[in-house]
Amino acid sequence: MTAILIDGKGASQKLREEIATAVARLKLEHAVTPGLAVVLVGEDPASQIYVKNKARQTLEAGMASFEHRLAETITESELLSLIAKLNADPNVHGILVQLPLPAHIDEKAVIESIAPGKDVDGFHPENVGRVVAGEGGVVPCTPLGSLILIKQAVGDIAGKNAVVIGRSNIVGKPMAQLLLAHHCTVTIAHSRTPEIASVARTADILVAAVGRPEMVKGDWIKPGACVIDVGINRVAKESGEGYKVVGDVAFSEASEVAGCITPVPGGVGPMTIACLLANTYLATCRSVGAPPMEIF
Ligand code: NDP
Repeated sequence: MTAILIDGKGASQKLREEIATAVARLKLEHAVTPGLAVVLVGEDPASQIYVKNKARQTLEAGMASFEHRLAETITESELLSLIAKLNADPNVHGILVQLPLPAHIDEKAVIESIAPGKDVDGFHPENVGRVVAGEGGVVPCTPLGSLILIKQAVGDIAGKNAVVIGRSNIVGKPMAQLLLAHHCTVTIAHSRTPEIASVARTADILVAAVGRPEMVKGDWIKPGACVIDVGINRVAKESGEGYKVVGDVAFSEASEVAGCITPVPGGVGPMTIACLLANTYLATCRSVGAPPMEIF
């Protein structure tokens, strides 16, 4: 391996410590405790684990955590009325509805019902629009965490060629917008992009957010590039016993060519929760008119 390993676990721990210090100051100077409400509908095991981790890390940062675990059978209007209550609750500064929701609930209606100022996921159309227009707005957690890692690893990214593979609303598109806002020349590749390997090879910064195990091979990477692997894919172990998690990048090949690279696990994943805490802290600062700490 020649690439420098980007330590997302270490970076997320540092960010969480900084947030905890800033939260303590907010309590002292503004008598406010940031509160994050997490709403989980149904029994999806992966979502249960995410929600448990989010609640633990929220408390560790000195924030209040409000968990709402709802039955799979809840109606859309019951869920919307819970969100209306959370919107009105002064102790709640951030609201996160764990996705996916059951098929009988309209995800878009739920996202749009969250007060934009409390939308710590950054999925509300008002926040999406503000981020695109460069007018503030809440930045979605995974792209924000990825950008922090890129800036820590590369430094000044102005003028770099960035390629983002994937164009989802939660990762690919906001990632591309953030890189553009930081003056990269950005290409978005997706499932209809021809010659995708040669497009990827133009990248000084390559972000893979596809959901296909080890799709990005070593020969897709420009020597010395910064490679950010957002993918989380569960695949069967070679031994045939149990599962392991791999990214969208073929890590061992890629790390022979890249200049720096995130591992999976231990790269972007831990930054996502740290950025959720950052967004909750920032939402609290906005609500009390406190100047926030610099996140990056
Ligand atoms: P989506 O399925 O919503 O989007 C995947 C994107 O990849 C689409 O834009 C799709 O293109 C594109 N794509 C699919 N197949 C190909 C292909 N063969 N070649 C080129 N592009 C392709 O996924 P998400 O964006 O939600 O997530 C992507 C990955 O990131 C997943 O593994 C997910 O688990 C992970 N993830 C990780 C997080 C973290 O905290 N680390 C958080 C969120 C997601 P098209 O639009 O043309 O269909």
